[in-house]
Amino acid sequence: MEKKDYLRSLSSVNDLIQAVYRSRKLGGGVPRELVTEASRVVIDGVREAILAARDEMSLENIRTDAEELVPLVEKEVEERMQWSLRRIINATGVVVHTNLGRSLLSGAALEALATAGSYYNNLEFKLEDGSRGSRQVHLGKLLCELTGAESALVVNNNAAAVLLALTALASGREVVVSRGQLIEIGGSFRLPDVMAQSGARLVEVGTTNKTYLEDYRRAITSETAMLMRAHPSNYRIMGFTSEAGIEELAGLAREYELVLLDDLGSGVYVDLSSRGLAYEPTVMRSLEEGAHLVCFSGDKLLGGPQAGIILGRKDLIDVLARHPLARALRVDKLTVAALEATLRHYLDPERAFSEIPTLAMLTADPDALRGRARKLAKKLAAQDDLEAEVIEDVSRAGGGALPMEDLPTWAVAVTSPSHSANLIEKGLREAETPVICRISDDRVILDMRTVSDDEVALIAEAFASIVSPDIPE
Ligand SMILES: *Cc1c(COP(=O)(O)O)cnc(C)c1O
Repeated sequence: MEKKDYLRSLSSVNDLIQAVYRSRKLGGGVPRELVTEASRVVIDGVREAILAARDEMSLENIRTDAEELVPLVEKEVEERMQWSLRRIINATGVVVHTNLGRSLLSGAALEALATAGSYYNNLEFKLEDGSRGSRQVHLGKLLCELTGAESALVVNNNAAAVLLALTALASGREVVVSRGQLIEIGGSFRLPDVMAQSGARLVEVGTTNKTYLEDYRRAITSETAMLMRAHPSNYRIMGFTSEAGIEELAGLAREYELVLLDDLGSGVYVDLSSRGLAYEPTVMRSLEEGAHLVCFSGDKLLGGPQAGIILGRKDLIDVLARHPLARALRVDKLTVAALEATLRHYLDPERAFSEIPTLAMLTADPDALRGRARKLAKKLAAQDDLEAEVIEDVSRAGGGALPMEDLPTWAVAVTSPSHSANLIEKGLREAETPVICRISDDRVILDMRTVSDDEVALIAEAFASIVSPDIPE
């Protein structure tokens, strides 16, 4: 047979659609347009394959009959029906994993989201007198009450908070920052770039590992508007290092009437060292030490929705709130709702540790992690072709917080005589509920810190789908 014979025998789009419906394999909810589109794509693909075929052999492998093309249409439809944003299981042990959605929300925050999405609310409406209100009041009072700050403003994320502060308070003027703090986070937040965007001029002082108060002092000119400290987040300079503290910088800022901005990054509200973790500067400490403005993320260690929280002096916050950029960076009602619920947990810090998933995972009871690992290992070892072992390991906090902190954890290490670790990792990623894991020493490692008890069975199912995949008909 020649190419033209193959082309002639190729099913029409219409015949293919008929064949798809005859096979009755597609679920009822699939729109007709999608079946049509998928059938067209399949027919086009086959036609191209025929035209591109270089020899008899490759032509012989091409199917042209409607019945035989049905599975291709079904696959195409399935791919198009698949949601883009999907639930996954985080078995990496990285609690605040930016690529996997950072913090999970508390039950109360989820309820608040549902209520805010389902009903009208007083987002910008004063119930006392029926006049127009500000969406900031819902969070502002609570934030000030919790932290002792004079005033608060919440924007879209912490990058926005830094951009707004720099734009509103230092545009066209100079901001002095230590070289050791010119950070890039996750490839998208680069302090020098944010600075450039704000119109403020960056003045770098000190060296990578050492910056003294005198370095800042010498850099101050009549053009200087601000001193800024940025939390180094996901890296640390070790060994022979020195940075000026907030207290010292506050003294200098006072002397020259400059604004002191502290970008805390993660911004913890509770002292984590009380739970055996490394000390991370708390928001209150920074304010007490004299930072005029402190900003941090809502979805890192705070454990809430994406947001950028700015706290500090009322006169400065007022300038930020009035800036046109504030309108462009404002938070939506869903964020307000989830953040208010998250912040409320902190009214009782003890309970915050159990109710806010991020804090609960960071401080998880090792025995509970071990129990979960044993349960999973048992389920996996029962599957053909899998070997599973409970091991001690370390997890990371993530989100640029506690970068040097090893959190002792329990994990399951899996190997298979018939599948390489890379193959298993790929299979888990492509499972119906994808499981994201690590590979170490040619073993697949599933860290139980970020896995819930309910997810153990789903992980076992994901493994079952790799080791004994459905045999195609
Ligand atoms: C994470 C981080 C940011 C960016 O915060 P987003 O909420 O992701 O916008 C800015 N500065 C520091 C120091 C950070 O750690």
